[in-house]
Amino acid sequence: MHELSFAQSVLDSILEEAEKNSAKRVKSVEIEMGDLALVTAKELESALKMIIDGTIAEGMEIKIEKIPVRVRCDKGHENEIEVDRDHHHMMPALKCPGCGGSVKVLQGNECILKKIIAE
Ligand SMILES: [Zn+2]
Repeated sequence: MHELSFAQSVLDSILEEAEKNSAKRVKSVEIEMGDLALVTAKELESALKMIIDGTIAEGMEIKIEKIPVRVRCDKGHENEIEVDRDHHHMMPALKCPGCGGSVKVLQGNECILKKIIAE
């Protein structure tokens, strides 16, 4: 159930932010995440919906935008690649589309709280 603990930490940051602004209710949240994040957008959304009941974020709108995955290999090729997380539960092995070499992830494993709308 790693998506629940991941969602919990996202919710904690949302509530913390709302508290700082003395908000009474969180109306919506915008999250940006890459396909290499610990959980998929779908998993995060459904897990969040399960745990927001009873908090000031109950019923909030959840918008999740995808960040493309960018990788660079030893030879310096930089590419944006598609990662199909819906069909792989494990993190897929990443290769350079140009030379097949191993790559470093430049972008795509982040999960960023972009915007919180509260009142
Ligand atoms: Zn390469």
